[in-house]
Amino acid sequence: MPKVAISTADRVFVLTGAGISAESGIPTFRDAGGLWRNYRIEEVASPQAWRRDPRLVWDFYSMRRKVASAAKPNLGHIALASLEQALHDRLFVCTQNVDNLHEQAGARRVLHMHGELFKSRCDSCSLPPFADTSLHESPGELPRCSCGGKIRPHICWFGETPFELEQILQALDDCSIFIAIGTSGSVEPAASFAGHVAGRARTFYVGPEAPANRSLFDECFLGKAGELLPGLFSF
Ligand code: NAD
Repeated sequence: MPKVAISTADRVFVLTGAGISAESGIPTFRDAGGLWRNYRIEEVASPQAWRRDPRLVWDFYSMRRKVASAAKPNLGHIALASLEQALHDRLFVCTQNVDNLHEQAGARRVLHMHGELFKSRCDSCSLPPFADTSLHESPGELPRCSCGGKIRPHICWFGETPFELEQILQALDDCSIFIAIGTSGSVEPAASFAGHVAGRARTFYVGPEAPANRSLFDECFLGKAGELLPGLFSF
């Protein structure tokens, strides 16, 4: 039975996190234990790591590209793509995920605030981010830009500023319904989005356990995104 009623006057902001892709076989940070080859993930996903050992960083993203290439969207992604069909520009989807499962499900307007796994860019010049599915794994050469700079994953690493924050803040200001899905509420700035709209918009959370920022939500729907989202909305 639908629990979130959306009227023709509503504008909906959806924030997704690693949890929405869990049922597609992409581990959340928590499920992966935050470790890879005995490195903490923060140690291979940061500008410092890139300066210290770009080979190691590319091996980490090569592994993540492999895992994500094998994944297919689940019913949660599909439900959000259907919501886009119903609401058009009255829906704003902002994801912290770097996979492309929202797009694979048919979504056309997803803002990736932490970047995209299948894009790369130059670490030195202003070459725009470009589609890149190559693995760049050991023992191959590290990819280079024609300017001589190193090609890096188009990812917002720990310590870097997320993409398109201005557009995100505008969409938060505009929304009347805010729904966070599968995000632990502990990674900033996304963890503060619900606080930005609280008291003005209706706020909902969807995931198997209450997030760290539970107090910012009017209602929590406890369960898996792929099970709850298909029946969550009414118009
Ligand atoms: P997180 O790992 O901190 O939290 C994941 C949340 O998902 C948890 O609260 C968990 O209860 C919930 N969850 C688990 N299974 C679920 C399901 N079936 N349905 C709904 N929710 C479920 O992830 P986060 O809050 O997104 O933040 C950590 C960072 O990890 C983000 O920056 C994100 O970019 C990155 N990340 C991305 C991917 C991806 O692109 N798929 C994967 C791992 C981590």
